[in-house]
Amino acid sequence: MKTLVINCGSSSLKYQLIDMETEESLVQGLVERIGIDGSILTQKVEGKNKYVIEENMPNHKTAIKHVLNALVNKEHNIIESMDEIGAVGHRVVHGGEKYSHSVIIDNEVLESIRDCISLAPLHNPPNIIGIEACRELMPNTPMVAVFDTAFHQTMPKEAYICPLPYELYEKYGIRKYGFHGTSHMYVSQKIAEVMGKDIKDLKIVTCHLGNGCSLAAVKGGKSIDTSMGFTPLAGVMMGTRSGSIDPSVISFLMEQYDYTINDIDEILNKKSGVLGISGVSSDFRDVLAESEKGNKRAKLALDIFHYKVRAQIAAYAGIMGGVDVIVFTAGIGENSAITRKECLRGLEFLGFEIDDERNSIRGKIQEISTDTSKVKVYEIPTNEELMIARDTVKLVSKL
Ligand code: AMP
Repeated sequence: MKTLVINCGSSSLKYQLIDMETEESLVQGLVERIGIDGSILTQKVEGKNKYVIEENMPNHKTAIKHVLNALVNKEHNIIESMDEIGAVGHRVVHGGEKYSHSVIIDNEVLESIRDCISLAPLHNPPNIIGIEACRELMPNTPMVAVFDTAFHQTMPKEAYICPLPYELYEKYGIRKYGFHGTSHMYVSQKIAEVMGKDIKDLKIVTCHLGNGCSLAAVKGGKSIDTSMGFTPLAGVMMGTRSGSIDPSVISFLMEQYDYTINDIDEILNKKSGVLGISGVSSDFRDVLAESEKGNKRAKLALDIFHYKVRAQIAAYAGIMGGVDVIVFTAGIGENSAITRKECLRGLEFLGFEIDDERNSIRGKIQEISTDTSKVKVYEIPTNEELMIARDTVKLVSKL
């Protein structure tokens, strides 16, 4: 079955068409600047020229129409007609407590995703718009919602209940949900396969280090804790997000210096983290380059980042009673040897030994620990799209 995977952001849309007979990605595309001047669709197929559409795309429905046209274009020759798309899998950021698994989308499911808007006001609305647009344009194609929060629904209460008045959880759903679930699930399953072990026997720490960063403790194949929280702002430091800080900083800035809640939101989400400390960029490549040139704040940003990740790895090894394998994934985790090394520095007592030559390889499945290392360390490129497509096919084939 050819499965279209859609990931809608507020002004962007990423897509992939995957042939699920072979799990081969046939085409990848990105639409940017939806609803803004200068909309552009760029589609890539291996070994062929890029296919680009630069046309006004005032909304997601128009963008998806262009995606469907791009998929049937003669130059790329991927599919002859839309009828070849057997199913669509949608990435949905927040499924609240209701969804611990992916689900076939019907009106009721769409309503439940709408109910979660207050929990993810930036993310769920574009996800819903994408689903609605696809349903309108492909009314007979089954669609599945795959939630970023679902994998973490196995966390025990001591991990997900915040130490706040319990009524805030009961009344408003304030608790840890965790995000990047599809990625943590993919790499934890992949590492078990790569090591030839039953996932039920493994204690894994997964480190998803990209623009957003989160770690998870995966024991016996289940997420038992993760670093993001009620929103993706919590946990370790990220590109522009602060990660967890003392919440009193907020009332202090508001009371003493007249910051508004919007200012605070902007600071914590967009002006903090690696960007905020370094003053250089949120992009790790820029900050690494500046640090090498001797920029002290760039170095400090990296030092803090490594420290936070290191502390989180140790904490998760602690709560699992040890660790069998540590996995690095996403843009930074897959590509930056120095970051991996620094995030592990001082944690050798856990039982691993790093092989520097292996660690210098990037962007592919690679063990970076030595053959004799008791605890293993790997980099595993994440593949959230494939995970979404797998879930989609699994559910659709039961229809
Ligand atoms: P993602 O959100 O997974 O796309 O990851 C984006 C992050 O990965 C950005 O901070 C990039 O700077 C970082 N990144 C990508 N390639 C490299 C690289 N070769 N070395 C260090 N960081 C990288």
